Amino acid sequence: MTNEELWQTVLAQIQLNISQANFATWFKNTEILSQKEGKADISVPNSFVKEWLENKYNKNILKILHSLNEDIKEIKYTVGKIKVKIIKKPLITLSETDQLEFQEFKIDKETNLNPRYIFSSFVVGPFNELPHAAATAITEKPGFVYNPLFIYGGVGLGKTHLLQAIGNEIIRKFKKKKIRYISSEKFTSEVVSSIKNHQIDNFKTKYRAIDVLIIDDVQFLAGKEKTQEEFFHIFNVLYENNKQIVISSDSPPKAIQALTERLRSRFEGGMIVDISAPDLETRTAILKTKAQEKKVSFSDEIYQYLASTIQKNIRELEGALNRLIIYQKLNNQQPDLETAKTLLKNLLSAPTKIVTPRKIIQKVAEFYDLKEKDLLDSSRKKEIVRPRQIAMFILREDLKSSFPFIGRKFNGRDHTTAIHSYKKILGEVKKDKKLEEEINLIKERIFNS
Ligand code: ADP
Ligand code: MG
Repeated sequence: MTNEELWQTVLAQIQLNISQANFATWFKNTEILSQKEGKADISVPNSFVKEWLENKYNKNILKILHSLNEDIKEIKYTVGKIKVKIIKKPLITLSETDQLEFQEFKIDKETNLNPRYIFSSFVVGPFNELPHAAATAITEKPGFVYNPLFIYGGVGLGKTHLLQAIGNEIIRKFKKKKIRYISSEKFTSEVVSSIKNHQIDNFKTKYRAIDVLIIDDVQFLAGKEKTQEEFFHIFNVLYENNKQIVISSDSPPKAIQALTERLRSRFEGGMIVDISAPDLETRTAILKTKAQEKKVSFSDEIYQYLASTIQKNIRELEGALNRLIIYQKLNNQQPDLETAKTLLKNLLSAPTKIVTPRKIIQKVAEFYDLKEKDLLDSSRKKEIVRPRQIAMFILREDLKSSFPFIGRKFNGRDHTTAIHSYKKILGEVKKDKKLEEEINLIKERIFNS
């Protein structure tokens, strides 16, 4: 990529994440002057902008730059000479609808629903057939089919999409019904603040008047007894009046820790369905649908590559696709496979894939000002034993290395030594906040460099 392409790509990504006004204020008339020796030199129009970018946006800009060119580790901002610029057409202007879509602006204040999440954009495959069928069924006769409907599954598999689609569809069919979608965290904070402000009666009245109550990520109610109690009462009133309740969670009711028994048995009284991870065909179908929605298309090779590399999470699948879409809009051409791989490099490589045992040992040694050799050798000095145990601990925790393997890495020690080290540090970390922070610092060096 040329400097200009690089910077335009950065701008395109930033544009997705901040308001138009901010974008125009802080990023107008900026450009890359050079990139060398790990440093990118960005020209800015004045010192005010310089300061602002340094303090507020530097981290973000660096992250994006680094993802596009791994060599870049630092940014310098230079106040440019004021020069009369030939105004060039920007390489990319995202249309307003793109922006709205990305930023999810149009959330309805009454219902909290995002119109983007509808059934017609929800791809159905074997992994989500059942929850989808249950969801559409209740939109026919809210309150009378499955009540409550409890949907659970891992992160990024479409729970929120499905829950909101239910809400949007019911509104479409029954204009008069009062619908409220809310995350359990937001629900909790409403309970807390209405107690604080002596508004709890208003709060109750408001919720009891609802026809369809949709609560997302109910696992976050765990341990919040007061909130659970309020929810329990609201639940009962709604339930007795045949109002529809829809719930999502990351696990089935049985597995949610610290959920009061009566709430659990309420949840279990209705229909419980799970969303699992999509299979390869469905992943490909999802990609194609999303691309079509955004009016772009890619070669089959690219869909194949994405669908086979990102297996567990539809949100990540979408993120990767969006990155390719931006590239395509910028360059007015489809990326080929090699380009796609480069563009997605930092999205796809989980840290465990690039971090080697060697690197862990290196970084731990460095952190404690020791030589690698010290860690591996047989010294029993306390200042060495402990870092060695920490290195073993990280190998186990983050690389999931087996104990015999760890033993071997440390000059052929026995696996029992590795087990002992791991358990020792594990026990201490639980009690010792400082040690935990220390290890986190080390991990940061290991995984972020
Ligand atoms: P969850 O709430 O389970 O973490 P989301 O509902 O937020 O997951 O889904 C993550 C992203 O993936 C959303 O942008 C959503 O639109 C998309 N998505 C999930 N499942 C599907 C599907 N079956 N078809 C199309 N898009 C989906
Ligand atoms: Mg969700």
